[in-house]
Amino acid sequence: MATEAILTRGTGQWMEPVDGQRWWFDSGSLALDFAYTGEFAHADDPAGSDDERHAVRDATGLNAWLVERFPEVAPTAGDREFRDARTLRTAIARLARQASRSEELSPDDIDVVNLFAATPDIPPVLAGGGRQAGRTNARPHQALGTIARDAVRLFGPDVDGRIRECSADDCELVYLDTSRSGTRRWCSMQRCGNRAKVRAHRARAARTPQ
Ligand SMILES: [Zn+2]
Repeated sequence: MATEAILTRGTGQWMEPVDGQRWWFDSGSLALDFAYTGEFAHADDPAGSDDERHAVRDATGLNAWLVERFPEVAPTAGDREFRDARTLRTAIARLARQASRSEELSPDDIDVVNLFAATPDIPPVLAGGGRQAGRTNARPHQALGTIARDAVRLFGPDVDGRIRECSADDCELVYLDTSRSGTRRWCSMQRCGNRAKVRAHRARAARTPQ
């Protein structure tokens, strides 16, 4: 299946707590995970524009996030890299929202993704050689190139219709459905999926005569 080609690295991350509990959100895509380190994570929350709440809000946070995803990246991001990362992140977030609603993708945001996708990314490395090639010496900008290339595939024709919003009424989280059946409905079963099940159960119980 075409969407499986995107999963070259593990996806998913812990999300900042809204009600005191961290929770795991697997967006299904590297580019989407990256978008969820910023204001996109709080898109349906009035206080969401507050930088303090973003998982990656400065160069230090960017280094930490990148190194966790890409062990070969040296944590050398500064303010310039953070600004660039934020530009890419914002473009991916807007495109994701548009794609999830089957709206036309914004040409300006596509330009941003294409710009970063045209820069050098992290080269793939075949294990087993005599030299320690490509280890811990990639630059943060190369990771941004890799993320942008993932976004090119994400918003391309291969995954058409599989970028969706969570089915819960009060949740707007966007994910890539990588399930074989293509029937994923929730941002997370633990979060929205179970809440919906509980509500459905209560509704059924209320209808049952005592
Ligand atoms: Zn949800």
